[in-house]
Amino acid sequence: MIPVMKPFLGEEEAQAAAEAVRSGWVAQGPRVARFEEEFARHVGAAHGVALSSCTTALHLALVALGIGPGDEVIVPSLSFIATANAARYVGATPVFADVEEFTGNVTVDTVDAVRTLRTRAVIAVHQGGVPFDTDALRRACGQWDVALVEDAACAAGSTAYGRPVGEGALLAAWSFHPRKVITTGEGGALTLDREDWAQRLRRLREHGMNVSAAARHASNQPVFEAYLETGYNYRMTDIQAAVGLVQLGKLNAMVARRRELATRYHALLSDVDGVTTLMDPPYGQSNFQSFWVLLDQRFGRGRDEVLAELAAAGVSARRGIMAAHLEPAYAQSRSLRLPVTERLTRDSLILPLYHTLAEQEQEHVVNSLRKSVGR
Ligand SMILES: *Cc1c(COP(=O)(O)O)cnc(C)c1O
Repeated sequence: MIPVMKPFLGEEEAQAAAEAVRSGWVAQGPRVARFEEEFARHVGAAHGVALSSCTTALHLALVALGIGPGDEVIVPSLSFIATANAARYVGATPVFADVEEFTGNVTVDTVDAVRTLRTRAVIAVHQGGVPFDTDALRRACGQWDVALVEDAACAAGSTAYGRPVGEGALLAAWSFHPRKVITTGEGGALTLDREDWAQRLRRLREHGMNVSAAARHASNQPVFEAYLETGYNYRMTDIQAAVGLVQLGKLNAMVARRRELATRYHALLSDVDGVTTLMDPPYGQSNFQSFWVLLDQRFGRGRDEVLAELAAAGVSARRGIMAAHLEPAYAQSRSLRLPVTERLTRDSLILPLYHTLAEQEQEHVVNSLRKSVGR
């Protein structure tokens, strides 16, 4: 079976994890500090705060912004469900915006269409690694006086306007789940430029303590910590950070390979009627964390039938990005009509794409897709 994604892990990551274990320091410690610093530098931000996942990163971002009950947070429905859930964690109301077909991302217009006087924040997603129009949306949110949180779960190594996606973001949330480009097993981070917020976020991830456990252990004096506010345990471990540091060193090579494979998919599928392949937007470059194709009537088969035929041919493809407003957890939004979101989630599928995908395997994927319609 050709999987949809395979993390690119090797002996070096295994060694790094083993060293962390042998050091005796397995919880959040010096490796986490190094990882967050190096990751922030890589994505163009002044500060990085390593966390247990992107889901907890999104939660803390809204806590830091003081969003709460009565507030509305605009999110795309077309995203992994964690994006919408983050608003609910702080008691706010997620309000679903539609997306544009070409990128799968919200735009200034789709956000503006659902904006109200209660809108306090927007969580915009760089979906599947495709950057949204950072310049346009950051500017619009500034004019509206609405905070823009960037869900960059999938976007490590993507660029917009020639800069890494994290550069210039108020708050960007990242994921290191194995489904993403680089992985720490589970893990996440927030990156930002404001030092006062970074300090508070580090406190919030560690029960609201004013002295980190790492600093307390490193001191040869007794240190009495205080708990300044209600915090959380959203820490990353040093074992995870050790793996992350090795992965970070491979990120550029992984993105380059993913872009090569995406270009190849595009060429191999260019003559198939009814298939539109994902491409870079005019203002940026995707890391192609996900590579989806959109089917229309000319293709001649429905998406779910195609998925079943691919599975029978040993190809593990996936349905396109989910739409949160169609899930039981958001049943009260079921009557909403988000036409582009609904078309993308119904008619697109994600093809296998990972660092070690062989070219013959990629050809097998394309041939199996063609065979499903006898072309
Ligand atoms: C994967 C993903 C998340 C959740 O990331 P975790 O690290 O698994 O919590 C959030 N948002 C988007 C857009 C994602 O793709």
